[in-house]
Amino acid sequence: MYDTLIIGSGPAGMTAALYAARSNLKVGLLERGIYGGQMNNTSEIENYPGYAHISGPELAEKMFEPLEKLGVEHVFGLVKDIQVEGRLKKVITEDAVFEAKTVIIATGASHRKLGVPGEEALNSRGVSYCAVCDGAFFRGEDLLVVGGGDSAVEEAAFLTQFANSVTIVHRRDELRAQKLLQDRAFSNEKISFIWDSVVKEIKGENRVESVVFEHVKTGQVTEQAFGGTFIYVGLDPVSDFASGLGITDESGWIITDDHMKTAVDGIYTIGDVRQKDLRQITTAVGDGAIAGQEAYKYIVEHG
Ligand code: FAD
Ligand code: NAP
Repeated sequence: MYDTLIIGSGPAGMTAALYAARSNLKVGLLERGIYGGQMNNTSEIENYPGYAHISGPELAEKMFEPLEKLGVEHVFGLVKDIQVEGRLKKVITEDAVFEAKTVIIATGASHRKLGVPGEEALNSRGVSYCAVCDGAFFRGEDLLVVGGGDSAVEEAAFLTQFANSVTIVHRRDELRAQKLLQDRAFSNEKISFIWDSVVKEIKGENRVESVVFEHVKTGQVTEQAFGGTFIYVGLDPVSDFASGLGITDESGWIITDDHMKTAVDGIYTIGDVRQKDLRQITTAVGDGAIAGQEAYKYIVEHG
């Protein structure tokens, strides 16, 4: 029986574990893969206070390090369901059931798919969602990046170190990304833009060979050759396992108050999976600190 069982070991979950363990709670940190979450997909973090530059995996390592010394138990598993019996919470994975007095959901978000022909068939054969993981396989290629947010613009810049050229296609004529990232992209000689256009199809026999675009204003359809396509069109919440609890909005984001409390007593939600405006490492760790502290207060009150 854990005092608090945290699901997901991204920056939010690891911070909640730090705060809960330092309050002397018995803490379990349940993860389906490796610790670090989405931070593992980025080579360079420049907006985490205290570090001018740090890679995602390195920051993950630094967050993880103190948890073992504090007695946080690391548990491997993919959570499928959460059931509530009075004050008892049962967290159900593929092959085990864990019991806890409080649960902190920190399962983050996953990349959204475009849903166009060719995307699925050519996945890992030129279609990628992770420049850090796959970028080096595309040396000398002409690459396409789809999207106009921070991820698309930042990862396009990352890809220029390997690629011959990087084209960003965006469905509007204005980027959503932070101004600083935009300015860098506009001044990067290897990056060009296709505006007001959406991808209709990704084509290729065994690997990506070309991409078909439609101009959203004129309807004109064009096709251009590319050696790879990196897709960054936003995030979906990872919250399927919580659908029975009635704590999500219509898109699956989990609703909390300022104390990270959900509608179910003793269940908290933090980080990217929470319904909120700014999804960043800094906001994830802020949420985590609050939830770790709230779990402690809950245990003091209810035992
Ligand atoms: P996540 O990091 O998504 O971690 C969730 C964890 O939960 C994962 O480890 C996952 O395996 C686990 N999990 C999910 N479902 C289950 C389940 N059912 N059972 C068990 N475990 C589960 N932010 C910045 O501040 N600065 C940046 O420079 C920056 N760059 C980014 C670059 C890219 C390419 C991307 C994709 C994101 C970037 N972000 C950046 C955003 C930042 O990474 C996220 O806001 C942050 O990681 C969210 O943390 P989290 O702990 O809420 O969730
Ligand atoms: P995002 O901010 O939601 O941006 C998604 C982009 O994809 C938008 O430009 C959107 O267009 C476009 N888009 C969505 N659906 C599309 C579709 N079907 N077809 C074509 N284009 C589509 O997602 P993100 O860039 O992955 O960022 C996610 C979160 O991580 C954000 O909170 C971001 O700030 C954070 N992050 C931060 C950093 C950093 O701080 N350096 C780096 C990466 C990510 P519209 O603009 O028209 O909506």
